[in-house]
Order: sequence, then C-alpha cells, then structure tokens
Amino acid sequence: ARRNVLITGCSSGIGLALAIKMAKDEQERFKVYATMRNLAKKDALEEAAGHNLGKTLEIKQLDVCDEQSIKTCVNSIPDRRIDVLVSNAGMGLIGPIECQTIDEMKTVMDTNFFGLVRLLKEILPDMKKRKSGHIVIISSVMGIQGILFNDVYAASKFAVEGFCESLAIQALKFKLQLSLIEPGPVVTEFERKVFEDGMKMDLSAADEETADMFTNIYLKNYKQIFQSLGQSAEEVAEHTVKIILAENPPFRHQTNTLYTPMTTLKYADPNGDLPIDIFYKMVFHHDKIFSASLNFIKLLRWRSRKSFDLGKSSSQ
Ligand code: NAD
Repeated sequence: ARRNVLITGCSSGIGLALAIKMAKDEQERFKVYATMRNLAKKDALEEAAGHNLGKTLEIKQLDVCDEQSIKTCVNSIPDRRIDVLVSNAGMGLIGPIECQTIDEMKTVMDTNFFGLVRLLKEILPDMKKRKSGHIVIISSVMGIQGILFNDVYAASKFAVEGFCESLAIQALKFKLQLSLIEPGPVVTEFERKVFEDGMKMDLSAADEETADMFTNIYLKNYKQIFQSLGQSAEEVAEHTVKIILAENPPFRHQTNTLYTPMTTLKYADPNGDLPIDIFYKMVFHHDKIFSASLNFIKLLRWRSRKSFDLGKSSSQ
C-alpha cells in the first residue's frame, strides 16, 4: 500500500526537493502531502510536480507555529493517516547575540523546536494507536556541534535532538521509528537568506572586536564554506528517501561524509575540549591552514562526485 507522507516547509530547498523526489517515485510508493506556510509560494513546487500534482502529490497549508493550521491540515487527510512525517520547516540565525533581540531568538526556537513539538502533539497519538509510523526530522550537524555565531540556531537544533532522544525510547515501545537527518551546509534559500540577514545586521551593540570577527572572519568565509562543503537539496533528499525506505532506519544519519571528521571530534574527547580547540584554531590562528583545508576539501569533493556511493554511506 502507498504510504502517506506529510512534509513541512515545501516551498523551497530540501522540503521541495524531497516532496518532488517522493512524488515521482517510479514504484509510486508514496502519497505526498507537501505543506507550506504560505500557499502563495506554491508555484515552484507545482511546476516541479507537473503531472504528479493531484495524483501522488497534494499541496496543503501548514504553519508549524500555528496549532490550528496543523490540526486543519491533518484533519483533511483521509483517516488522518500519516505514515511518514518529515519535519523539515526551519530557519537560521547568525551573528553576535548582543545584536539579536530575544524576540528574534524566540522565533527561531518557536519554528525549529516548538514547530516539531506541535506537529508531534497532533500526529503522534494516531501513530501510537496504529503502532506504526516513521518520524523523520531534518536536524543539522549543528544539532550535535555548535559553530561560531550560530549560538541560537545550534541551541534550537540541540533542543530538537534532546527531545528526539527522549522520545525515541517511548517510540520503540509503540513500534514507531524516529530518524534525525543531519546535513552539513546545504545550498538553499536558507543559506542565502541567513547570509543576507547577516550582511544587513546592525552591529552597533557589539564591541569592535566582535563586530570585526563577525564581518571579516565569519561572513568572509561563509560563501566559501558553502561552495566547498555544501550539498544540494537534492542530495539531502536522496539520503532522506534512503532512510525512509530502510528496513531498520538509523536514529541519526549525517548526509555529508566530508563533514563527519568534524563531528567525530566530539566523541573523541569526553572533556569536550577537542572540537572547540580545533574550531578555534581553524578560525583564529590558522587562516592559511583553513583556506588550504577548504581547497583540499574541494578536491575531495570533486573526486567523490565521481564515485559517490550513497548505498554505503546510508547503511553506516
Ligand atoms: P529553506 O529556507 O529553503 O527551507 C525552509 C523552509 O521552511 C522554507 O520553505 C520556509 O518557508 C519554511 N518555514 C519556515 N518557517 C515556517 C513555518 N512557521 N511553517 C512552515 N514552514 C516554515 O532551507 P532548507 O535548507 O531547505 O531548510 C530545511 C531544513 O534543513 C531546516 O530545518 C534547516 O534547519 C535544515 N538544515 C539546513 C541546512 C542548510 O545549510 N541549508 C543545513 C542543515 C540543516
């Protein structure tokens, strides 16, 4: 039988790519409910869906910050049956915390963390009753490791990961599956918007050294990091589909093998100093080493494009 899949945040990026990939599945294994906050932004999705629109893909309104919109959307699905929930909607925030308002930070938490909580409050009870369902969350490598000037965003993804680690134990009892997808940098609207907001940021509340660090180190290297390490939304969607189709899906899956050496540092030192020390050196002391390693990564990336073995990486 076809599995009903509900995906949030489908007007762009990973959500859009995933919705299209699943709707176009050759074996027609999925019925996709591609949702978005603002239906006025549905053109790109509609166009990409083509003849699948109204067949294997339906577009619905859903704002993860609005409980009523979640309820209305779920009620409109036959028998409220959602076999696979993909919690993808999210937003970023960069910059020194002294230049961000608490309200801006709350919006990030409300979208990235409480957005997931709201979805599950509505959908989890049905899944428990049926004793079946797969909850897939687009988290981030920043859900396990913080990065300079991403303090609140990383906190929101850590919140997601802690919440899911707790819930996974209960889910097991109900035979439900839970998977965190952890992409590294992905070239999407997200990256463009976060960068633009960073460039426009009023840095007057920060001291000179911090403002300089943000502008001349962080923002200066931002594009280069995405260019050398960044995956496409389609690549992340491909990984996600593999996880959804896996017989025993893993709890965590990192999509970017070029990034795993960084996240591995976390587990290599129980004191937690090692990754912080390495990031510090990369950012502040070894600008040259930093650009050299980015060039090396570019080379690796060029080579791995030729021999990208998804089967291998998704069974890790
Ligand atoms: P994106 O900006 O293209 O997609 C995010 C989508 O979420 C957008 O369509 C946006 O409209 C939607 N959204 C925001 N607030 C919403 C709300 N309240 N209700 C419903 N939808 C809402 O960026 P993306 O890169 O495709 O991001 C998708 C997910 O991937 C996010 O959770 C993000 O944190 C995560 N992620 C992104 C990257 C990256 O580098 N781009 C890296 C790791 C993880």
